[in-house]
Amino acid sequence: MPKKTIHYDVIVIGAGPAGFTSAIRCAQLGLKTVIIDDWRNKAGQSRLGGSHLNTGGIASMTLLESAKIYHQLNLDIAKHGIHVEAISMDLPVMIQRKDKIIDAISHKMSALLRHHKINHIQAKARLLNARQVQIITAEPHAVSILDAAHIILATGSSPIQLPCAPVDNDTIIDSGAALNLNSVPKKLAIIGAGVAGLELASIWNRLGAETILLEAQENFLSVLDQQISGEAYRIYSQQGLDLRLGARVISAKKGHKKVMLEYQDQDGTHTLRVDKLIVACGRKPNTGALAAPEANLLLDENGYTYVDNNCRTNLPGVYAIGDLTLLGPMLAHKGIEEGVFVAELIAGLHNPINYDNLPSVIYTEPEIAWVGQTEQALRTAGVAIKIGTFPLTATVRALATGKTEGMVKIIASAANDKILGVHIIGAQASELIAEAVLAMEFSASSEDLSRTIHARPTLSEAVHDAALMLKERALPLSAGK
Ligand code: NAD
Repeated sequence: MPKKTIHYDVIVIGAGPAGFTSAIRCAQLGLKTVIIDDWRNKAGQSRLGGSHLNTGGIASMTLLESAKIYHQLNLDIAKHGIHVEAISMDLPVMIQRKDKIIDAISHKMSALLRHHKINHIQAKARLLNARQVQIITAEPHAVSILDAAHIILATGSSPIQLPCAPVDNDTIIDSGAALNLNSVPKKLAIIGAGVAGLELASIWNRLGAETILLEAQENFLSVLDQQISGEAYRIYSQQGLDLRLGARVISAKKGHKKVMLEYQDQDGTHTLRVDKLIVACGRKPNTGALAAPEANLLLDENGYTYVDNNCRTNLPGVYAIGDLTLLGPMLAHKGIEEGVFVAELIAGLHNPINYDNLPSVIYTEPEIAWVGQTEQALRTAGVAIKIGTFPLTATVRALATGKTEGMVKIIASAANDKILGVHIIGAQASELIAEAVLAMEFSASSEDLSRTIHARPTLSEAVHDAALMLKERALPLSAGK
């Protein structure tokens, strides 16, 4: 039986990027705030940061950094006139480094909660109605009720399971377990060549696994600008990724330390025997046990929480942010913005989010980053456009660093020159895209970008040069022109 009811101004459920940021902003605005999260690491210790920090974006990017160094020392370093002998890999230490970084970030987050006098409760939370949340702590086992005028749901998402490939996290593993392997598989298959599948492939391929990606769709990375996805396909294939498109996995059976896979493509049914199989087929919102049925929280048929344009659910005073809704893509920085937005809304402020200028990044090597619309979407919509592209191979900084693969593509309106989309594949694309996001946020024209001075030699010159190409004002300053 619940013992007592504790009152707050705001209850936040979920301490991933969206919930954590929202709680901090609520506290900054003078609201008495509690945040509830039940995440535990491999050792059973409480951790903040949700899947983005612990098993997703940050964990994956951290391990990729180690994989890139190992790969460069093995393959590229001799070009620099540096000879390194007897390079070996200590995978457990590599994984420990990742875990230490995650721990340090989680501890900093805890300190920030304490600094802002936010109560953090390690427990499972369940929405009972528009004002009440039940919390169940494991040790000691206790049930209590929290009450608040405002409740923010931020429980994130988790990997979708495929009935034909049941995950045991031993030989058939999900994207989180794929960052904690204790040895490099000789032969690895990944179901899904989406963002998660490609990021994981970039790691394990660099660490020496023969990596096969099985993707049901014929069209590779269909959300991307197709010129960029074509370039990505070429680069990844050259790096040794075995990308099989139009390949739908229909069964995966665990044998003795192996997995037997069956997949279908236009040529029929094929079998494949691998050491590990990663299932990276998308994510689903964590709403299964979030609300009691009598709370009547409105979800769609896929479990996404219904919200209006202000992240308000059907229950008065209850908001949903981040991966729980279809308001924008499943991206940590989208959730963070929504967290701040909702906190400010509760405090009587209204600073709407511009979802149009949301950057996306695929953390492979090279990276892919984009903002705004693709060429195919604009052409389909009948918008008259002009395009400027610039290859990194013609950029002096790229030549100096040896990272010449990729390009910058800028799409502008033919009518008024406004920038409508920027798409980058190449080293540091995740950093370069910030300039494009800012330009678009200020409704810049390609003329504005072309007249903005960029430092030389930098990779950002490629953005400038793409704008100059669009204005047909390209100057013979960059290498290769
Ligand atoms: P996704 O939907 O991007 O890709 C999953 C792929 O699996 C799809 O292309 C689908 O066709 C394929 N697939 C499904 N069933 C299959 C089958 N039986 N056989 C073969 N292929 C099959 O999903 P994801 O990569 O898991 O990402 C999920 C979400 O998380 C996305 O919104 C993504 O943007 C986000 N995410 C973002 C980042 C980042 O920001 N860098 C990283 C990882 C994930």
